[in-house]
Amino acid sequence: MLIDYHMHLERGSFVEEWWLKFYQKAKERNIQEIGITEHGHRFKEFRPIYNHIPITEPWCDSTLEEYKEFMSFLKEKYNVKIGVEMDYFPDKEKEIKELLREYNFFDYVLGSVHFIDHGFGFDIDPNDPQWTERDIEEIFEDYFDKLEKLIKSELYDVVAHLDLVKLWGGRLPKNIDCLYEKVAKEIVRYNLTIEINTSGLRKPVQEIYPSPRFLSLISSYSIPLTFGADAHTPEDVGRDIEDAYRLAKNLGFKYISLFEKRDKIIVNL
Ligand SMILES: [Zn+2]
Ligand SMILES: [Zn+2]
Repeated sequence: MLIDYHMHLERGSFVEEWWLKFYQKAKERNIQEIGITEHGHRFKEFRPIYNHIPITEPWCDSTLEEYKEFMSFLKEKYNVKIGVEMDYFPDKEKEIKELLREYNFFDYVLGSVHFIDHGFGFDIDPNDPQWTERDIEEIFEDYFDKLEKLIKSELYDVVAHLDLVKLWGGRLPKNIDCLYEKVAKEIVRYNLTIEINTSGLRKPVQEIYPSPRFLSLISSYSIPLTFGADAHTPEDVGRDIEDAYRLAKNLGFKYISLFEKRDKIIVNL
């Protein structure tokens, strides 16, 4: 069963016409179940999680009430899940927990690290001076440290784009296997689902998240997967998903996770 559990409507409004473009592309690419995962920072109610990152302020232009209403309307007509892609910040665990309890209409919550120490939004600009001021080892260690804390927080259902920090390409730190292994151990321990995200193929690194190397390291643990193309425009919905399934099967993965009201349903890959 092909799923695409990671896409964003944020470049348009919550109207059926815009959504239908995403839905039609999914059908064209034989995707059987899709999930919309707007960024947490899109919503005014989630502002307390982001108030220490001023750059995110102009991104907060919608309300969760609008999202809930629109998605509930879609759910009556289409097979679609209501997701959200929530950033993780170690100092905001309490706020994230409370907000997810208060706004509990999601089928699943993707956990993402887009910001590391010093408010560094590493996926925004490859020419950000932090890329040259800090060494690559330190940036990766910082990123994987946040990721490990995200996993241990037990606030999320799925770990999204696990090694996103590699997106601009270039060399990896020497201790990358060590970082991978530490994180893999925690994913197994906390019984999490990981996402295979194909959007890395459209970035300078030209590789899926997580890397085939990471996937081969964890393939023997029976970790369930979700798949997502992380589309921000209709053309990218379902892109490269079939290839990602093939790769996962070849590596020995057996299960995918579907979600309903944050209950995990494991089915065969
Ligand atoms: Zn993301
Ligand atoms: Zn995303």
